[in-house]
Amino acid sequence: MSLRIYNLHNHTPFSDGAYTIDELCQAHLDRASLRNHEVLGIGIADHLFCTPSSREVHNEKEFERLFAKETRNYVAMVKEARQQWAGKLQVYCGAEINWPLNKGLLDSVRAMLDGIDYVLFEFVDWAGLTQLANQARRWPCPVVLAHTDVSLQFPNTSLDQVVRTLANARIVYELSAKLMPLANQDRWFRVVPNHRVQVAIGTDTHDDLSCLDALPELHEYVLKFGLGEKIFVPAVRAAEAVSVS
Ligand SMILES: [Zn+2]
Ligand SMILES: [Zn+2]
Repeated sequence: MSLRIYNLHNHTPFSDGAYTIDELCQAHLDRASLRNHEVLGIGIADHLFCTPSSREVHNEKEFERLFAKETRNYVAMVKEARQQWAGKLQVYCGAEINWPLNKGLLDSVRAMLDGIDYVLFEFVDWAGLTQLANQARRWPCPVVLAHTDVSLQFPNTSLDQVVRTLANARIVYELSAKLMPLANQDRWFRVVPNHRVQVAIGTDTHDDLSCLDALPELHEYVLKFGLGEKIFVPAVRAAEAVSVS
């Protein structure tokens, strides 16, 4: 029986990745190490507001002028790839947001997520996580905590409190290839299954496709803790029609 997996964290040259969506899709289908696994879908999760055209912005107007069109182009690019790969691989349109960089402009960020299936937040400290948790349900798509070693990132907070915060806010936890060796995550993963927290799997692919070799190990780790039913699979969101007013 083949194991079905999703890799929801890949970058392209839109931000700081080296491989195009087509190359990423092909690599997931070709990778010899994934032979016992059926990759059902991959997510593109580029840094939306940290791209080659980024510069310092001081207010929402500047932010929107700089990024609104670019973000629409990004969604269109991923959608096109989704159509091309339909039947072979599901392509999801994610986004990664740098919390410290963008936490002051969250209203603008939220307004720009038309057509984005899920949003990953990275470098979230405890104050940030509580803030995010308070508003997570107002986001138009699922919110995911990206590549976070919980005990290092929230050293003064109990694992129990972290997991309850994620569960109450329906924030998805991403198990990342960046957190290897996975044995360091055992303590956290013994806590996670007792709560309603979904787990996403991601390799954070940038310029080295060998990270894809970690997918079977990540997937088996999640299964080992009985989380098979709680693996996060995004829903494809239709972009809302742009309202002309
Ligand atoms: Zn990241
Ligand atoms: Zn990333």
